[in-house]
Amino acid sequence: MTRLAEKTRRSHMITEDEIAVSFEFFPPKTAKMEETLWAAIKRLAPLAPEFVSVTYGAGGSTRERTHSTIGRIIRETSLKPAGHLTCVGASKAEVNDVIHNYWATGVRHIVALRGDPQKGIGHEFEAHKSGYKSSVDLIKSIREIAAMTISVSGYPEMHPESLSRKSELDHLKAKIDAGATQIITQFFFDNAHYLRFVDQVRARGIWCPIIPGIVPIYNYKQVSMFAERCGTSIPYWLTRRFEGLEHDPDTTNLVAAAVAAEQVMDLVDHGIQTFHFYTLNRANLVYATCHLLGLRPRKEPLDRS
Ligand code: FAD
Repeated sequence: MTRLAEKTRRSHMITEDEIAVSFEFFPPKTAKMEETLWAAIKRLAPLAPEFVSVTYGAGGSTRERTHSTIGRIIRETSLKPAGHLTCVGASKAEVNDVIHNYWATGVRHIVALRGDPQKGIGHEFEAHKSGYKSSVDLIKSIREIAAMTISVSGYPEMHPESLSRKSELDHLKAKIDAGATQIITQFFFDNAHYLRFVDQVRARGIWCPIIPGIVPIYNYKQVSMFAERCGTSIPYWLTRRFEGLEHDPDTTNLVAAAVAAEQVMDLVDHGIQTFHFYTLNRANLVYATCHLLGLRPRKEPLDRS
């Protein structure tokens, strides 16, 4: 029996009620992208995710689009949306407005982030002159403004700006102490990084959920560029798997499905039952991975419209 088949059999021992998933989408720029996003949402919604999150473009560039995507999710589905929010390029008053607007729209969950430096990753983060200086300040304010669930980022392979693992864990502890309730990790491909991170976070006295972020590899070149920018390492075995498939999207998809399945099932074997998928606004690979995790479409209708 192959390693994958063995894991598939073990994963059958857990029921769909024991697995919880969430999906991240980004706000579309064009009508065509809007169509693609909604096709993905409609395909994934019957899997009854715990929540779906909508990102906030670098420098707050998608504020309106993030808001309108979330509004439509609330109006047209029974999914629970989480709005991402960063401190970049905006005053405290402007960021607070977004928090108030999220609340008024029905959002009860914020993914609270500092955001990337406006000059780009690798430059020092410069806060807006009357803005929040860090994610910790932002979290404190969200707590004061509204009774939201607050998710924050975690970095199994450390953030590119990290000075040391110790200072990173201290910073993470400060985010939790400020009122964050769960951690969603940056994506990773080698589960050992995530499992080691969980041990280190627990040893630092942080006991909230640490949800692994999983990215499906629709396009190896694109994902490896993302990975390089955010400090996620690409193991040699992963590079080998996609080697020679640059112009073969069908095979890439099949290989990517196998890679994602292997990764989540290995995590299930390590007792992990909650997953956050970076969908990149596409459904197929995420749907297939969730299916392998035992999830099946729920019968109750999800459309409110
Ligand atoms: P923080 O966690 O506050 O800080 C990042 C790192 O910097 C820390 O891990 C630590 O190493 C170091 N650091 C910062 N302050 C201190 C300190 N005082 N002491 C010690 N170390 C410190 N970006 C977007 O633009 N829009 C999004 O919607 C978005 N969504 C994301 C969702 C998730 C789940 C993740 C993991 C990332 C997301 N990002 C998003 C990317 C994120 O904005 C960048 O990684 C950004 O550079 C850091 O933001 P943060 O909230 O993770 O920062």
